[in-house]
Amino acid sequence: MSKHLSPDIRVPIEPDNPSIKRNEATCIKCGQCKNICAGAISVLGHYDLSKTGDRAICINCGQCANVCPVGSLTEQYEYDKVEQAVKNHEKVVIVSTSPSVRVALGEEFGMADGSFVEGKMIALLKALGVNYVLDTNFSADLTILEEASELIERITTGTKPLPQYTSCCPAWVKFAETYYPEILPNISTAKSPIGMQGPTIKTYFAKKMGIDPKNIVNVALTPCTAKKFEIRRDEMKAAGTYLESQGVLTASEAENMRDMDHVITTRELAMWAKEQKIDFQNLEDAGFDRLMGEGSGAGVIFGNTGGVMEAAVRTAYEYITG
Ligand code: SF4
Ligand code: SF4
Repeated sequence: MSKHLSPDIRVPIEPDNPSIKRNEATCIKCGQCKNICAGAISVLGHYDLSKTGDRAICINCGQCANVCPVGSLTEQYEYDKVEQAVKNHEKVVIVSTSPSVRVALGEEFGMADGSFVEGKMIALLKALGVNYVLDTNFSADLTILEEASELIERITTGTKPLPQYTSCCPAWVKFAETYYPEILPNISTAKSPIGMQGPTIKTYFAKKMGIDPKNIVNVALTPCTAKKFEIRRDEMKAAGTYLESQGVLTASEAENMRDMDHVITTRELAMWAKEQKIDFQNLEDAGFDRLMGEGSGAGVIFGNTGGVMEAAVRTAYEYITG
């Protein structure tokens, strides 16, 4: 007998899902989560609980939480852990912000949809006690340099298949791993921007700024619930591996170091701010910290559908033609 309600009623969610949780007390069993997961996402209905050991398959995309009319499904909240880290004065809390947050956060405070609130977003994070605010557009540029270089290599040497698909979306990567593993060789080997930002902070940024990497609490601020899954993948501990090879960390310290420690969503930041009664609209604009507070237009257009590959293609064009 399954521990889940029938998938004909609603989408099953595992208690250890790192991205999504359900509040049983408020679920009205309307089935909207089931419809989006089976329809637009094509996950529910494409596995059988009797054949997965009663474990629900989930690519952590968050769309079920997006449509749940009563807020029974939500992202797994982590902002309380970031708040605790901020209160611990031994810790250096560094938040890296994804491009879309600066045009979505204002809505939560009664501003017009799409208001550009980059300066207020940074000021808010500083008011909450965050030590450094960096721009994930910095590592979006790193991702693009890698994806563009890889694309040129695929075209000129033929060592890997074409077309090349982007690798930035962890839900898409997990979908391919689960249902279409035969296309994995077509997916770029580059890590996502958040996947690159984490280890770059704990190695390069820490060294340049004279910060002990063991004290850094790395936080990604992003709209994406799948990032909560991505940062917990086994592969995402490159900083520890590197720092151990340099004699900076012991083997057990390296094993325990994650590249990125927490992911919080745009609305988690808004909840935290409202709990602290911060007057967002009247915050004075602030700027990103340096280093790693800059990015190019290639990083910004990641926020648009097709933007990642457009940035890769135009960078490849620049490399080839000069
Ligand atoms: S959409 Fe929300 S309320 Fe409706 S069945 Fe799913 S969890 Fe329950
Ligand atoms: S997060 Fe996405 S894949 Fe997982 S249950 Fe919800 S809609 Fe389905």
